[in-house]
Amino acid sequence: MVLFNIENDERLVECKGCGGQTFLNLALYDRQHKNHFCDEDCFKEWAYENVELIVEFYQRMNVS
Ligand SMILES: [Zn+2]
Repeated sequence: MVLFNIENDERLVECKGCGGQTFLNLALYDRQHKNHFCDEDCFKEWAYENVELIVEFYQRMNVS
């Protein structure tokens, strides 16, 4: 039986933060918006540009 090894996955995905290409197995993934990011810095870059989405989500989860 051959198991799929995610460690050897060399597919590339586009980073939503910097627009560059990053390896799927190393990328961070945003399940809510289905975006990939190179790292935390690229995620924050996207988050700062989409602050309304972040605020809306935070409000829905925490503020009543
Ligand atoms: Zn990036």
